[in-house]
Amino acid sequence: MMNNNKYTFTYISRILFIFFVLFLAFLLIRKYKHNSTNNAGNFTEDYAVSNGAVSVVPTIMPTPDSSNIMPDTIDPDKPMIALTFDDGPNTSTTGSILDTLETHNARATFFVVSSRLPAHYDASNRALSIGCEIGSHSYSHKMLNKLKTKQIKKEFKRSKKIIKKYTGNTFSLIRTPYGDTDRRVLKNTDYPVVLWSVDSLDWKAKNSKVIVNRVMKNAKDGDIILLHDLYTNTAEAVKEIVPALISQGYQLVTVSEMMEAKGIKLKNGHTYGSAR
Ligand code: ZN
Repeated sequence: MMNNNKYTFTYISRILFIFFVLFLAFLLIRKYKHNSTNNAGNFTEDYAVSNGAVSVVPTIMPTPDSSNIMPDTIDPDKPMIALTFDDGPNTSTTGSILDTLETHNARATFFVVSSRLPAHYDASNRALSIGCEIGSHSYSHKMLNKLKTKQIKKEFKRSKKIIKKYTGNTFSLIRTPYGDTDRRVLKNTDYPVVLWSVDSLDWKAKNSKVIVNRVMKNAKDGDIILLHDLYTNTAEAVKEIVPALISQGYQLVTVSEMMEAKGIKLKNGHTYGSAR
């Protein structure tokens, strides 16, 4: 009887020991997996509904900490960069970009195609409410050098009217579609023309990583960076670019703020590619 009990006890303790080892292994694997998804930020899941089916789309949310939050005031002696977004507004992608900017207390300039405003003006209004700047990227995004002089003027007159109507604001900067700097075009635009010094080429990037790498490799003090708030890849890239630039000590400001801080006075019909 005694022997039998002893045998049962040893048997049970062996089984318990095996379970304990397996449990430890499970905990270790779980911790390892958690760490590897947590490197870039908190791992969250968005539920996207497509064709009636619910699918889980993982997204990496940037983790805000004091090192990637912009201070409230601009220090003219510290480096700064102006992120600029063309071809919007677009409620979803512009909205996502604004979420990122707001999380990090950062600002940017949006050159809007004003024919898009009636359907997406909520995004432009939100941009203004968090200190971003709205510039005009013409009314219809046509090649201005192919238009008659009267039509060129009309592109920005119409923009002025629509932007005023939907946001209550006037703009003081333009970016010509395709960065056109034709002499006749410049002569007939009554605004300073803002170009760029870093082209993210986001419109042809296959994924957000390519955009992040291109921007991070080239960005320096006084740069104006060209992006487009039409693409999901761009919005995803911005989630990494904004905290990364701030962590490197850059202030992310509007084009007007950067020009003022660097003491550059803007003139109508002149082009500006950077604040250097
Ligand atoms: Zn454009």
